[in-house]
Formats: sequence, C-alpha cells, structure tokens
Amino acid sequence: MRKSEAIMDELIKLYGGLDNFLEFNTPFELVIAVMLSAQCTDERVNKVTKEMYKKVNTPKGFAKMKVEDIEKMISSISYYHTKAKHIKECSTQIMENYGGQVPNNMKDLMTLSGIGRKSANVIMLEAFNDCQGIAVDTHVFRISKRLGLSDKNEPQKVEQDLLKLYPKKYWPLVNHILISHGRNVCKAQSPDCKNCTISQYCKFYKND
Ligand code: SF4
Repeated sequence: MRKSEAIMDELIKLYGGLDNFLEFNTPFELVIAVMLSAQCTDERVNKVTKEMYKKVNTPKGFAKMKVEDIEKMISSISYYHTKAKHIKECSTQIMENYGGQVPNNMKDLMTLSGIGRKSANVIMLEAFNDCQGIAVDTHVFRISKRLGLSDKNEPQKVEQDLLKLYPKKYWPLVNHILISHGRNVCKAQSPDCKNCTISQYCKFYKND
C-alpha cells in the first residue's frame, strides 16, 4: 500500500468517516456558513448561524438587508465587516445571476463574492454530494507538507498533489480527516508527535 493511503487509512480509523462540521439545512445556508468560517471556528459559526437563520436564511432576504444590519447579526465572528459585505453581495449575485438558487458547479460558485476554490469544493461536496477536489485549508496545507505529501507552497498546488496521490474514493475524506488531525494532534505551534498514530510516515516528527 502506498504511504499516502496508509496515512489516510490510519487516520480514518482514528477519526471515523465524514462528519459535518458546519450545520446547514439548504445549500445557501452552507454558502453563508462556509464564508463565515474563514479564520473562525465551526463551533462559533454554528452558534451564530443557528440564531441568524431563524430571522433570515435566503438570498432574497439577505439581498434586501443593509450591510450594517447583517454586521449586527455576525459581530462575534472574525472579520465581520468584510464578511457582512460578502453576504450581501453574494446574495444579490445569486438573485440576479442564478435565479435565487445556489449554482451547483465549481465555475459558477467561484463567481460568488467571498467564495474561492476551497469554499466551492466544500459546498460541492457537502451541499451537492459531488466531490470535485480536495479543499486545502490551513490544517490540510500544514499537515500535507509535514508528511511530505506535497512540497508546494500554494494551496492550489498542494491540492493538485493530493488529487494525484489519492484515488477519488478518498477525496471527500482528506479535508475532514486532516482538519481533525490538525485540531487534535498536529497543531500548528506544538504538534503532539509522541502521540501521533502516523508519526512513522512523517518527515517532520519532533521528539522533544
Ligand atoms: S508526527 Fe508530528 S508533525 Fe508529523 S503528522 Fe504527527 S503530529 Fe504532525
């Protein structure tokens, strides 16, 4: 078995399969949640969206709101000024360009304000059950490099390396599993290498 697959199989044993980190009931709710989750914990996002979606949860609703009123609902989230602007713009784009429906393909999703390739990957997988690639966030980026799965310095290039390394059946899992490992063991500042189940495969293993 290849090293890349052995790593993922070990981690799947530890963290299980797919879990939804962000809570949502519609593709649009996920678009907003993904947007809010940049530089913010899923736990906080879920807390905020739970209350916010009781008041407004459609592109039509957000498109009609003032940015300042959106800001008030998400003020406990990091970068809420920018994110409120993105929510308003994105909602307006969905209404004007996509008939009020979240587009279900990468190209159109990436035209939406505040949605880049990483977010579009998550939306395609979680909302449309269509895995188009591997979302490379800060955890996936860091751990892929530490494990030697990629030596690239840009998330998009790391994604290309991961897509080549893993058969498609692994794609939906790689993002979730590496995020779990990044949060629990392979932390940015102090990775817990002594208790890491995949240390045997790691170039970065620290013994101190
Ligand atoms: S051995 Fe250390 S650096 Fe390597 S994956 Fe495990 S925790 Fe991360």
